[in-house]
Amino acid sequence: MSEKREPLHAICADCAYVWVVLYMPMAMEKAAEAMAHATCAQCGSTDARVHFPEAPASQPSQEPAACSSAT
Ligand SMILES: [Zn+2]
Repeated sequence: MSEKREPLHAICADCAYVWVVLYMPMAMEKAAEAMAHATCAQCGSTDARVHFPEAPASQPSQEPAACSSAT
């Protein structure tokens, strides 16, 4: 009776927009289909990945070294 539904977030690979794609638990086939058809509402990109907001963000963002000494 007390089935808790957890929202599954997707994050746009292009603009980092985060939105709710579906609510878990859901059949894996349906979930995979929903992710495959997920489209960013902000930039329209279809390159969405599963996003876990509660996951520990301990990974330092590695930015490419800017080589500004081009003459
Ligand atoms: Zn986007």
